Amino acid sequence: MAEDMKKCAHPKCNCMVAGEKRYCSHYCEDAADSAPTSECTCGHPGCK
Ligand SMILES: [Zn+2]
Ligand SMILES: [Zn+2]
Repeated sequence: MAEDMKKCAHPKCNCMVAGEKRYCSHYCEDAADSAPTSECTCGHPGCK
C-alpha cells in the first residue's frame, strides 16, 4: 500500500511527509507557528 506523500506544511521546507502528518518534524511544526518565513531548521539533507 502506497502511503500518501506530500510536502511538509512549512513554506520553506522541501521535505516530503508521509501519512497524516503535516510536518516532517517538530522543528517545522514549531517554526511554522512562530516564524513561518524563517528558514527550515529540520536538518534534513537538501533542506535549509
Ligand atoms: Zn525541511
Ligand atoms: Zn519540514
